Amino acid sequence: MHHTENQTPRTLGDLTWHDHATCRPTNRDQADPDMFFPEPDEMDRIRAAKALCSECPVRNTCLDAALENGDNVGIRGGMTEEERASLHSKFQRRLNYARVNAVLAGHDVHLTHAERHAVVRAAYLDSVPAEELARMLKITKEHAQKRYRKTRREIRDRAIDQEKEANKGKKKPTSQTSALKDPRTKTSRDDLGTAA
Ligand code: SF4
Repeated sequence: MHHTENQTPRTLGDLTWHDHATCRPTNRDQADPDMFFPEPDEMDRIRAAKALCSECPVRNTCLDAALENGDNVGIRGGMTEEERASLHSKFQRRLNYARVNAVLAGHDVHLTHAERHAVVRAAYLDSVPAEELARMLKITKEHAQKRYRKTRREIRDRAIDQEKEANKGKKKPTSQTSALKDPRTKTSRDDLGTAA
């Protein structure tokens, strides 16, 4: 059976993708064992490793896993450690709504800081109990309650800013307070979309 990638994000701790890796030891008995850990100037090794990665059916998962685990040594997912360096530093800003939705649906998948923030916001807007948010994010109930309080403040502050912006330049200030009274009417989980 052919392994298909990225239909749903990999569950935390799921290493079954290793079985499909082109570089798994049984697949490369004769290969150079240091091929995936070249020095920056070892172009033959880099080329050979990248050639294997280019045929690998789990290449995206491999790269994701390296970023999630902070694995910044060696060739992973077809990229050298030097090529991956900037991805590692940008990684915590990744905001993949497929992952956010997977966690909201009860799956244990890896999330970045930005994705955790999106989960808290969506759960808050959907009136998910703090206990459940705590389970989703593997945090304590107190921590979940605190994140909800912070989200409530963020939503309120944003509504105030938007109202100020809307009133700018108007002669007569209007009383558009509905967004302040109930921010839940403004956004629903559907607004999260499904694509990254
Ligand atoms: S992408 Fe490359 S390093 Fe990653 S599993 Fe496949 S062959 Fe191995």
